[in-house]
Amino acid sequence: MVGGGNSAGQAVAFLAPQVRKLNLVVRRPLVETMSRYLVDRITALPNVEIQVGKEVAALEGDETGLAAAIFRNRVDGAENRCAMRHLFLFLGAVPNAEWAANCVDTDHAGFIKTGAGFSDAAAGRRTALPLETSHPSVFAIGDVRAGSTKRVAAAVGEGAAVVAQIHLALAHRTGGSHA
Ligand SMILES: Cc1cc2nc3c(=O)[nH]c(=O)nc-3n(C[C@H](O)[C@H](O)[C@H](O)COP(=O)(O)OP(=O)(O)OC[C@H]3O[C@@H](n4cnc5c(N)ncnc54)[C@H](O)[C@@H]3O)c2cc1C
Repeated sequence: MVGGGNSAGQAVAFLAPQVRKLNLVVRRPLVETMSRYLVDRITALPNVEIQVGKEVAALEGDETGLAAAIFRNRVDGAENRCAMRHLFLFLGAVPNAEWAANCVDTDHAGFIKTGAGFSDAAAGRRTALPLETSHPSVFAIGDVRAGSTKRVAAAVGEGAAVVAQIHLALAHRTGGSHA
């Protein structure tokens, strides 16, 4: 398992009881990146070894699957090769939004920007609503939205909030009200 966030911690707690040995590879000490309750939980697991200060440098394999991973020590650059068949990455998310990048503004990582993407003139004297993209009447919510809190409750909340904003945009377009 590679990664030091809470998702990695939850995955370790889930997977460890099902395997003989689990190595957790992290760049920084767990206490800097993971909630205390998860650190306590996984450090108490007898078959989990935490490899601090390392990162994945390369993978080896063929059409049958993974054969080995090369890990690099981030302090001295030393590399070691570990034969393995299974590697789980919990290194963060990449938004699946390349298809939108030609239509709406995205940030450096590809997340869709909202809230300040167009000026009054572009939408007939209306500024962007908080969940509206740089394209008038196109909205983005949840994890794909730049700056969102990557949590279920946040995504659901934005889903509820965006409905009112869509009504506002439609009302402005037609000059009437939308209930
Ligand atoms: C391992 C892990 C553990 C997590 N643990 C927690 C936790 O404990 N608590 C918590 O609150 N949050 C947790 N999260 C975060 C949480 O899952 C997300 O914040 C939440 O699911 C975001 O909801 P969403 O609807 O924005 O995106 P998603 O749930 O990712 O849903 C997006 C949907 O869009 C679909 N899709 C993608 N591209 C397209 C396309 N081009 N066309 C059509 N459909 C498309 C996808 O298939 C997917 O169904 C965790 C995430 C991970 C990965």
